[in-house]
Amino acid sequence: MTDLQPLVIVNNLVKHFPVMRGILIQRQVGTVRAVDGISFFIAPSETLGLVGESGCGKTTAGRTLLGLYPPTDGQITIDGHNLRKAHGPTMMAIRRKAQIIFQDPYASLNPRWTISAIIGEPLRVHHLISSEAERTDRVRELLRLVGLSPSHLNRFPHEFSGGQRQRIGVARALASDPKFIVCDEPISALDVSIQAQVVNLLEDLQDRLGLTYLFIAHDLSMVRHICDRVAVMYLGVIVELAARDELYEHPLHPYTKALLSAVPIPDPKKDRARRRTILAGDVPSPLNPPPGCRFHPRCPIAVEKCHQDVPEWREVISGHWVACHLV
Ligand code: SF4
Repeated sequence: MTDLQPLVIVNNLVKHFPVMRGILIQRQVGTVRAVDGISFFIAPSETLGLVGESGCGKTTAGRTLLGLYPPTDGQITIDGHNLRKAHGPTMMAIRRKAQIIFQDPYASLNPRWTISAIIGEPLRVHHLISSEAERTDRVRELLRLVGLSPSHLNRFPHEFSGGQRQRIGVARALASDPKFIVCDEPISALDVSIQAQVVNLLEDLQDRLGLTYLFIAHDLSMVRHICDRVAVMYLGVIVELAARDELYEHPLHPYTKALLSAVPIPDPKKDRARRRTILAGDVPSPLNPPPGCRFHPRCPIAVEKCHQDVPEWREVISGHWVACHLV
């Protein structure tokens, strides 16, 4: 826990999607419980990692947090503003302060727009420039900031490599001078050789601009490199949250242990010597999550109680939270 007032506070956030069927008359036949009551805070200039397998709800959580999906329930506070009560100018102020870098640098840039138009759009939307010349100057500055040449101004996205496109996505996110950025798996679509460059860029920008990140990922080795604290998500809920080294060295939840046991270790001797936990089966559907502990159908140490009772979210050591009956 830090002495600073958190920049982002999420309290019991819920995001459900109705499943509709029918051609002429649509009726709801189910509910996808993508995010089902998650809570955390992020301090200024901190990076919180949000990790878990595909479909666990981490991307939905990140987007709901920014108001891209309306929350079903819960509170979100960003820089002192309650997102659920924000309208008009307050909502615009939050949107300016909170931005997103998308996973896919190929799909997230409009192929018909020049780089100048793409990066300049937030400047126009938030009325941050008063002339065309000012916009061009600011776009040039942003391109330099992300390590691209200002001469690329009038090129189109297809003329760039994946890593360069992601840098353009970063420049667009920075255009409105945000305090908080949701990095939604920003490196998972990139070649391994490029991933470290983009992570280094994000770290460098954080140091220079004092940015706060929610870093969504499924690659636990990269998360260890960039994050201060890490939250582990499983089927719509957070099952463990702790400071980075505490989580990697003393994981408590069986799911976190299983995820960490699959992370490669550079030393082949140590890698061979350690015990791997192979999880049986796939993540169950968020349409019909298991009762009790959601992890119980795959948990290697589940007991009877796990089948019925939802484990309490408890702080077991200062700053180390976990939801498991047996911890
Ligand atoms: Fe496993 Fe039970 Fe703990 Fe869930 S509560 S992680 S099923 S031991």
